[in-house]
Amino acid sequence: MPQPKKAAVKPRKDFLVFGSPLIEEEDIAEVVATLRSGWIGTGPKVKKFEDMFREYEGTKHAVAVASATAALHLSLLALDLKPGDEVITTPMTFCATLNAIIHAGGRPVLVDCDRATFNIDPELVEKAITKRTRAILPVHFAGRSCRMDDLTTIARKHKLAIVEDCAHAIETEFHGKKAGTFGEFGCFSFYVTKNLTTAEGGMVITDDDRMADKIKVLALHGMNKDAWKRFSDDGYKHYEVVYAGFKYNMTDMQASLALHQMPRIEKNWKRRAELWKRYDAAFAGLPCFIPPPAEKDTRHGYHLYTPLVDIERLGKTRDQVLGELTRLRIGTGVHYLALHTQPYYAKTYGYKRGDFPNAEFISDRTLSLPLSPKLSDQDADDVIAAFGAALDS
Ligand SMILES: *Cc1c(COP(=O)(O)O)cnc(C)c1O
Repeated sequence: MPQPKKAAVKPRKDFLVFGSPLIEEEDIAEVVATLRSGWIGTGPKVKKFEDMFREYEGTKHAVAVASATAALHLSLLALDLKPGDEVITTPMTFCATLNAIIHAGGRPVLVDCDRATFNIDPELVEKAITKRTRAILPVHFAGRSCRMDDLTTIARKHKLAIVEDCAHAIETEFHGKKAGTFGEFGCFSFYVTKNLTTAEGGMVITDDDRMADKIKVLALHGMNKDAWKRFSDDGYKHYEVVYAGFKYNMTDMQASLALHQMPRIEKNWKRRAELWKRYDAAFAGLPCFIPPPAEKDTRHGYHLYTPLVDIERLGKTRDQVLGELTRLRIGTGVHYLALHTQPYYAKTYGYKRGDFPNAEFISDRTLSLPLSPKLSDQDADDVIAAFGAALDS
């Protein structure tokens, strides 16, 4: 006799979009006001956003740019990488991290991550250092801080720069210090799914005056500082082109979306922390590994909730579970397929499956469930019911 089915979980009426941002009326009003103001390009609202962000992260400079990809690219360019210079990073990140290294003229050198935290393993970083190593590029995965004490010790010992990928980590802290402030640069993302969004956007933070200037100049065609004032009411200013720069500036349209989100960062963080706890409690006992709690004396950014499907115990692949969640109309993500298994990096750098067992373990099992502060309790209960059903073999 077949076992009686557990109460069937029905698909939601509307599809729960993964990473849908919480946009409030005050955000909409600010964008509309910018449109009416006649000044929609780079201007006073970008400046205001930079000031607010600088204050929030407690750094001397914050330079707004077009994306985190641009932020990483410019930070690495500012370090003046020479062809063949190596930058050590993790395979458990978004492809933009590696592409930025490559476009800055460097060579990405991957080392494995920790299976529980998904973060780069400092011991493996130290082993991978060669005469060509110039920088370490840690990624604070899901907003969980990397071991910045060990990484800064290694960087100091070997005279390496640190560029932090803080795309998930606006709120993250390690031993009371904000992520992004441990090395030369911290790079943030305001992509649609991130903890604060301008649709597309990014920020570089640094305490170094000269580096901040260089990033600014590189972000606007390589035109010198005064170019930013070209359209102000001080009258026309001539500019000089001092580098072959990029078009990586942020606009006031984008910045206006951020101005009212800045004071809501902590409130949104609290809501995500609540959802996180709710998921943890509901998923204990299911055939999956739930993310471990934040390490002692750190602050987790709660950007992604990434259980690992216990595929052996379940007898189903992660992709089958994703398919079931889609059928139940729950949006999901995968962060990430390990980058060394992506064709371009495998072909170009000779990486193959087997090189980074922990990243591969995660890559085969991970999925991301909705964690936006926009989620109602009912939405969260729908996610919980659907994930339970998808893991009920
Ligand atoms: C989103 C993301 C990026 C790229 O951010 P963009 O703003 O979209 O360029 C880089 N690294 C990580 C880890 C990310 O999640």
